Amino acid sequence: MNQKENLLNLTPADAAERLRRFAVEMEQPAYRAAQVARHLWQVPLPGFEAMTNIPLGFRQQLAERFEIPRLELAARQISVDGTQKFLFRLADGEMIETVAIPEDNRLTLCISSQAGCALKCSFCATGAMGFSRNLETFEIAGQVRELALLDPPLRATNIVFMGMGEPMMNWKAVDPTLTILNAPDGVGIGARHITVSTVGVLPGIVALSERPEQFRLALSIHAPTDELRQSLMPINTKYPLADVIDAAKKFDRRVTFEYVMLGGVNDTPEHARQLGELALECKAFVNLIPLHPGGAGDFKPTSARDISIFARTLRGMRIQTAIRKSRGMDIAAACGQLRVERQRRRAPVGADQDRHVQVA
Ligand code: SAH
Repeated sequence: MNQKENLLNLTPADAAERLRRFAVEMEQPAYRAAQVARHLWQVPLPGFEAMTNIPLGFRQQLAERFEIPRLELAARQISVDGTQKFLFRLADGEMIETVAIPEDNRLTLCISSQAGCALKCSFCATGAMGFSRNLETFEIAGQVRELALLDPPLRATNIVFMGMGEPMMNWKAVDPTLTILNAPDGVGIGARHITVSTVGVLPGIVALSERPEQFRLALSIHAPTDELRQSLMPINTKYPLADVIDAAKKFDRRVTFEYVMLGGVNDTPEHARQLGELALECKAFVNLIPLHPGGAGDFKPTSARDISIFARTLRGMRIQTAIRKSRGMDIAAACGQLRVERQRRRAPVGADQDRHVQVA
């Protein structure tokens, strides 16, 4: 028996072409194919049966030939600060997380690219759970689609690949996902509003730079010396700091350094000066990230005061520096935390009236 073709694994242009050929085969007018294609990403609908603008007979034929798979929502948590966290269960039982962060009139979705992660960064909850598998394109872009299908819908204005996993180790699926998210006949989010975050997987950085669109690159630096970085991020053996900096210098578009502030580990004024030198070399922006508690290891967050001192040192070197606001603290919204919590079979935290928890 022929397996049904998954339309959500294709770029919008490829899906439209498949549908057009199928319409011809079924002796349907070509505009019917365009109608269906529009409901994949632009104006998403849950499935063929919901496309009531298409004749029933053609909908049934479509459903025999193609599929538009959903991701099953397993849990949803809403923080007092408006941040929402979603846990999706995939067909094989794997769990992945998506976080929606509202700010002013933006809605940033933090999406996952792998189930688990192989990199074992010492402070990261996803790293601690180990690697299960790469996500397929429809499972990555599908996170954005699922939130748009909620009632009321959550429509992303910005995307960051800062959920579970290392996107550059799943480039095969991330590459078409970027097209789906950005294309006008896809989700239609501007490339400058889509950021791929990586520990510095060099072939991935090259592949991203070869794309013509202005996608943003964020580099998880976290330490200004090789020795310290090595102690926090085992991947530094394969992609040492100097090589990552070199790749950042060659990247001809905006680069952001991400730097998790670890109390007593990487947060002295000397570290700030060393980081500043690297940022100057790469003309990079620096994002200082307060440590989200409940990650991994027994790190302590740097105090707010010491984070400002660190930021001031960088700004004194004329480096654009932002201190990221910690969001969703009450719902464990850092990388990997919801899945960890669920798998310990504990009730999600915050199950009281103002920290609304919904478990499907
Ligand atoms: N693998 C990619 C993308 C996923 S992690 C990468 O590492 O860039 C996204 C960001 O969250 C990374 O910068 C990561 O270091 C950071 N992060 C992980 N655990 C964290 C924690 N407990 N507190 C704050 N940031 C964390």
